[in-house]
Amino acid sequence: MIQFQQVSKRYPGGFDAVKNLSFEIPSGELVFLAGHSGAGKSTLLKLIAGIEKPSGGAVIVNGQNMAKMNRSSLPYIRRHLGLIFQDHKILFDRSVLDNVSLPLDIVGFDHKESHRRVLAALDKVGLAGKEKLNPISLSGGEQQRLCIARAVVHRPAILLADEPTANLDRDYAHDILELFKSFHQVGVTIVISAHDETLMADYGRRILRLKNGQFTA
Ligand code: ADP
Ligand code: ADP
Repeated sequence: MIQFQQVSKRYPGGFDAVKNLSFEIPSGELVFLAGHSGAGKSTLLKLIAGIEKPSGGAVIVNGQNMAKMNRSSLPYIRRHLGLIFQDHKILFDRSVLDNVSLPLDIVGFDHKESHRRVLAALDKVGLAGKEKLNPISLSGGEQQRLCIARAVVHRPAILLADEPTANLDRDYAHDILELFKSFHQVGVTIVISAHDETLMADYGRRILRLKNGQFTA
């Protein structure tokens, strides 16, 4: 479960990116986060991931207060998170397989088991058979699937996706959202941000709407 209690985030320079937000996302929910560029969507997701710390209030993820996490405990929480963030770039100096195995390498996974999991994740996102390719030869939509495979390969309980459908045309965007739906169906809690609310409308899910760091109706 994700819980925000009167959370604010003020960046250096005095700008309040999110203001006094309180909400809950129960385990297993798929929820959308809508709002124009600059509304505070990335900031909200980074607060959940512990990448940013709140200036006020409490962010509780799986019962842990993220503000009270120290350097040594943060990696434990991170293991339960899958992140699809714009600044998590694909590495073009290695294969699709090696890109997806990164999160497992970091936690010291057994090589054989890692290989099996990576192939399962690639299969899941529709990239089976492409593991040896350099990611440069993948289309934009396929590169986004690669990022999703990398985010789910360690089977996280929570998946956070920051504008995963940006730069994709409508059909590809719906394919990506269908993929998230399939993770939702196996119990993963998912938060997906987008500035294009029309995409979300077809899914009948809760939409949290942000404007200037606050929720709107
Ligand atoms: P969104 O994801 O909805 O586009 P962001 O959370 O990225 O919104 O940004 C919200 C506001 O916070 C914007 O005005 C942005 O310029 C500002 N902001 C974001 N990150 C930083 C930062 N690291 N330092 C200062 N201001 C920031
Ligand atoms: P495995 O062979 O590792 O058991 P599955 O065939 O069950 O994998 O699932 C394929 C892929 O789907 C997994 O590697 C993982 O990326 C993803 N996946 C399946 N279930 C979950 C889950 N509960 N949480 C996160 N990711 C999952």
